[in-house]
This record gives sequence, C-alpha cells and structure tokens, in this order.
Amino acid sequence: MAQLIDGKAISGAVKEQIAQQVSSMQEEQGITPGLAVVLVGEDPASAIYVKNKEKACEEVGFYSEMYTLPTSVTQQELEDLIHTLNEKEDIDGILVQKPLPKGLDEKALVNLIRPDKDVDAFHPENVGHIMQGDFHFLPCTPAGVMELLRASDVNPQGKRAVIVGRSDIVGKPMAMLLLHQNATVTICHSKTQNLAEVCQEADILITAVGKTGLITGDMVKPGAVVIDVGINRDAKGKLCGDVDFKSVEPKASYITPVPGGVGPMTISMLLKNTLAAARLHSGL
Ligand code: NDP
Repeated sequence: MAQLIDGKAISGAVKEQIAQQVSSMQEEQGITPGLAVVLVGEDPASAIYVKNKEKACEEVGFYSEMYTLPTSVTQQELEDLIHTLNEKEDIDGILVQKPLPKGLDEKALVNLIRPDKDVDAFHPENVGHIMQGDFHFLPCTPAGVMELLRASDVNPQGKRAVIVGRSDIVGKPMAMLLLHQNATVTICHSKTQNLAEVCQEADILITAVGKTGLITGDMVKPGAVVIDVGINRDAKGKLCGDVDFKSVEPKASYITPVPGGVGPMTISMLLKNTLAAARLHSGL
C-alpha cells in the first residue's frame, strides 16, 4: 500500500508560512504583495482556477486585481493592459490565465510581461534562468511537485526519474528541476516507443499528459514514487488524473491523489512567486 501524498495539507502549510511572512512584511515595512490575474472568455475550468487564485490571495493577505475580459477583446487591448500592469506599483505579479481564446497571441502577451513580474515563470528570460539554475521564480506546477517530494522526504539525487509529457509549462521545466537535484531524467511524449518499459525503470514517475488511465500498475516499478499532474474527467464525469489509481497504488511507495495532490500546490507556488516578486520590488 502506498503512502498518500496529501497535497491539500502540504499546500495549506505553505500558505500558512506565506501568510505569516506577509503579515510581518506589512507590519515592518508596510508592504502588501499584489497579484493581477487576467482572464479572457468563458472557459468554465479557467474561471474556476481564477476564482481559486483570488481566494488564495485573500487567505494569505495579498492585494489582488482580477480582470475578466470578453472573448471580443483585441490583442492590442490586452497588450495595453499588460503595459499598464507592468507599471503599476501595487502589482508585483501578473498572470494571464491560459488557454486564451483562438485568435489571441498567447506567446506575444507572455513576452510582454516584465520578467520580474512574471510569476508563472513563462517569459523566455525566466525560462533561461531555470535552465541555468539561477532563478527568482519557478514554474508553479513543477515547483509544486518538488515541494511534494521534499515534504515526503523523497530525495531525487541519483534516482531514475521518468516524466511523461513534454509541455513547456509542466514536462520540460519539471525535467530541469529534477536535473538540478541530480536525478537521472527521461522525458516521454506521444512518440515515445515502449512507454511501459521506460516507465518501469522509474524510481520517480511523474505524469502530465491529460489522459485518463494512461499509467497502469504493470507500468510501475514496485516502490516507485508516483506523481499525477493530469486533470481529467472519467466516464462518469468524476475528476481524475492520468494514473489508474486502483492498479498503481498497491505497487507505489508514495502516490498523489487527484484531486488533492498536485493541484493545490500549483496555487501555493504562485503565491510563493508573488511573495518573492514583492521582496524583489521592495529591495528586501
Ligand atoms: P499538453 O497537452 O501541453 O501536453 C501533454 C503532453 O503529453 C505532450 O507532451 C504530449 O506529447 C504528451 N502525450 C500525449 N499523449 C501521450 C501518450 N499517449 N503517451 C505519452 N505522452 C503523451 O498538456 P499540459 O502539460 O498543459 O498538461 C498535462 C496535464 O496536466 C493535463 O491534464 C492538465 O490539465 C494537467 N495540468 C495540471 C496542473 C495542476 O495544477 N495539477 C497544471 C497544469 C496542467 P507530444 O508533445 O508529443 O504531443
């Protein structure tokens, strides 16, 4: 039986620490970290993520601004908004909720965000820092996974880590963070041959694909640590990850549930980045 990694509890502890730091920053320096979140269109999942981010900001005592814009907004209007937020002194972090509706250039917008306010760590300058290992901000989801490993006393050093999924927001930066911690890393994707065989070699198996039931018990080495980043709906509409929990859980040593695993960590890492940005901006 695997030990469950409780992302909700670990995220709660991180948020508590952040709240304490915010409170002393406010008392001692009169500084309140500020986050601006931009949501375009009516994607229901994005609306929930943004609402959760707003709630999390309130919980830790951040100042926050939410910009909810219609699908009809133009690229120019969005770019103007980013320029305004870049200059706003009470805003330390800017986040544009993805995906943006078709017709809008997501990359161009991210590239306009001032790197010292890019709390998602998607700006090419920050991506470069992550490659070099000298970062201010870590990409939220991979950073959340690292925090879960740390909280579970799993040290990646010398371990075989296999990551399934190579997106810019999860798989690739995840590989970098594990590499910085001296894991031996393999990245798999849709063209990988013999996925099961590669996964069987993993001491740490991380899946970020978006396919229900992709990882089954026979693909997992006994005693492996299994981290499920995927967020999917099963045939009954219930939230689930990429891992077939029923067959994998008996083989793993540690496993994250979905929901309640990686998801809550992503938000607390966003708060951590915003706090780091506020420190940077106030010269602390
Ligand atoms: P993307 O769609 O950008 O990337 C998916 C990756 O999976 C791609 O690299 C793709 O390969 C690979 N892939 C697809 N099919 C297979 C397959 N059969 N075998 C192996 N690899 C495959 O997704 P994201 O990285 O944005 O998100 C991945 C999942 O994580 C989603 O479910 C998303 O909802 C979830 N997510 C969860 C977060 C959280 O906070 N918990 C945050 C962000 C995402 P290729 O490159 O070849 O196409």
